[in-house]
Amino acid sequence: MGNVINYILAFFSNQTGNVAQREVAVSKEPGLNNVRTRMQACMILSGVGDAIGYNDGKWEFCPSGRRIQEELQSFGGLTKLKPNKQCMIVSDDTVMHMATADALLASYNDVDKQYCELAREYRKCMGDMRGRSPGLTCMAMTKQLYPDSGRYVTPFNPRGGGCGAAMRAVPIGLLYHRPDERNNLVRVGIESGRMTHNHPTGFLGSMTVALFVSYAIQGKDVREWGEGLLRTLPIAKQYCEEQKRDWELIKENWSYFEESWKKYVNEIISADFGDISADEFDKFVRSVSFMGTGGASGHDAPMIAYDAILRCYHGPEDSRWERLCRYGMFHGGDSDSTGIIAGACYGAMYGLEGVPLNNHTQLEYRDRLERLGGRLYDKSESIKMTVSLECDETADPVKTKPHQDIPLNNDEVITKEVSADVIGKEHETTVDGATENFGTSNTSDSYYQ
Ligand SMILES: [Mg+2]
Repeated sequence: MGNVINYILAFFSNQTGNVAQREVAVSKEPGLNNVRTRMQACMILSGVGDAIGYNDGKWEFCPSGRRIQEELQSFGGLTKLKPNKQCMIVSDDTVMHMATADALLASYNDVDKQYCELAREYRKCMGDMRGRSPGLTCMAMTKQLYPDSGRYVTPFNPRGGGCGAAMRAVPIGLLYHRPDERNNLVRVGIESGRMTHNHPTGFLGSMTVALFVSYAIQGKDVREWGEGLLRTLPIAKQYCEEQKRDWELIKENWSYFEESWKKYVNEIISADFGDISADEFDKFVRSVSFMGTGGASGHDAPMIAYDAILRCYHGPEDSRWERLCRYGMFHGGDSDSTGIIAGACYGAMYGLEGVPLNNHTQLEYRDRLERLGGRLYDKSESIKMTVSLECDETADPVKTKPHQDIPLNNDEVITKEVSADVIGKEHETTVDGATENFGTSNTSDSYYQ
């Protein structure tokens, strides 16, 4: 009977657009175990995390989480925040994140066509960046993509370690959320990331976000996600080696991401994840960063988001959303990029449970995000297994075979040189003036020293 009522509510919410009814239809039917519902919430709360972390550019890269949280209290606190299309719009993160979803939902027969769809959507979405502070790397690299000519490959970029690939990878984790799809998740996580961030720190960030979102949908214990990533990295490395393209450069630059995560996972073994002050959390954010701006790189955007999820998970149930936002979105770093990842994982774990209506009902692109979540679920259900793989993460990665659909001649795909003025900047500045620290050296050898 409850399902019938919810179905009726869902029908009328679609007809009338009534926000309150729509919220009921999404969050309550038929409970948090509904994967479709959690995927819709994942997409919606991705946008929320981005929008409130960004605050129209005022909080992204604000160096003090304490200042952000004091300003938030002056507005009346988190429950009063009402992101919408006039105020607190979504940033570049959500626009690229929707582009990933659109591409994954398109029809294609093979992985080349899938990559071309991703490249096409990444180029296209650059037309919707007004007021959203797109990063220079994404803007420059998408101009190097020529999907109509089958070109989706960009050269290795010693400065491609930013979080621009990680921030848009959530839909990959939704589509390939099942453990038996892990190799597709690794493949698409890496290849979509490499289109703009062809550096291990950049594209492994993309794979990591996809992996964590898949874990959240699976219901995997959140305390085990870090270990799961460490077990997946050798598989990712083997995939890159087998693809051959830029392998020597990738190998040389691999360790920063892996060592950063090993160190973090080792440190949290004994952590209690109790409340800490904004200043203390900012210290952590800076300590894991590449150059002082936490969350701006491929390794630390998912790391800070994961830390926020752990703090949310270990706290009282009735304050989970507030805790997630406090640590995931209101800190002194790249708070919209960590916000989109943290919001996505929350939605994938808990649906919209505990999220104030103000925070999401008027969100820009809410309907589109919700629809994409539902369609990703439908597509994930229709995916057929194309290859038989050992899916146990504890398996010896050496025995893992590449996806059979992966083209073996990727290195023959025509690439276009990236001009030195694009990859040679010491710091990258987003269109609206925020600074991203992506490196100081002209050589890949010293990039992460
Ligand atoms: Mg942004």
